[in-house]
Amino acid sequence: MKIYPFHLPELDYQLGDLAPMMSQETLSYHYGKHFQTYVDNLNHLVHDSKYEGMTLSDIVRKAPAGALANNAGQVLNHQLFFEQLTPSQHAKQPSSELMMLITQSFGSFEAMMEQLSQAALQLFGSGWVFLSTNATGELQIQSLPNGDNPLRYDLTPLLAIDVWEHAYYLDYQNRRKDYLKQLFLLINWHVVSNRVTPDVGFW
Ligand code: MN
Repeated sequence: MKIYPFHLPELDYQLGDLAPMMSQETLSYHYGKHFQTYVDNLNHLVHDSKYEGMTLSDIVRKAPAGALANNAGQVLNHQLFFEQLTPSQHAKQPSSELMMLITQSFGSFEAMMEQLSQAALQLFGSGWVFLSTNATGELQIQSLPNGDNPLRYDLTPLLAIDVWEHAYYLDYQNRRKDYLKQLFLLINWHVVSNRVTPDVGFW
């Protein structure tokens, strides 16, 4: 359960471990600077407010549109993003439970990845593409602007794709398609699969 004061989550990999798909320089800015700034902004906004004592996911759900929702959303989004990456070659397949949902919703894993990729390529400006589940367990792909999050639409995010330029510009400049292709090689599908049944208040 994560409540104020919020901190950068510890990662189970080193910042240089995701190269060459994602360089240490990118991680040092993206995790060490951008993410840290969202955490600092969130703590500043929550301090001495009614949001102290609320979990991050509840703040994301309940904050009115504006600075608090943006920063809380970005903290949650980046937590999802960085925790779902791994240099390991051992976590490259969804669980059988998630694979069944994928097949039901998209026909195949490859078809789903193609739809995710297209959504990320078509997203204009800064934002995120999510694979989420709805209340009845169906999967859906959602493109959201800025720091928005599926929790605000009663969906549970499973996979979060950062399409802000700060996620890839140092390594890929404007080549978003190349970034996506390499990012997909880093996904830890064990982590993503475990999000299908998240513990209450996990975030
Ligand atoms: Mn980012």
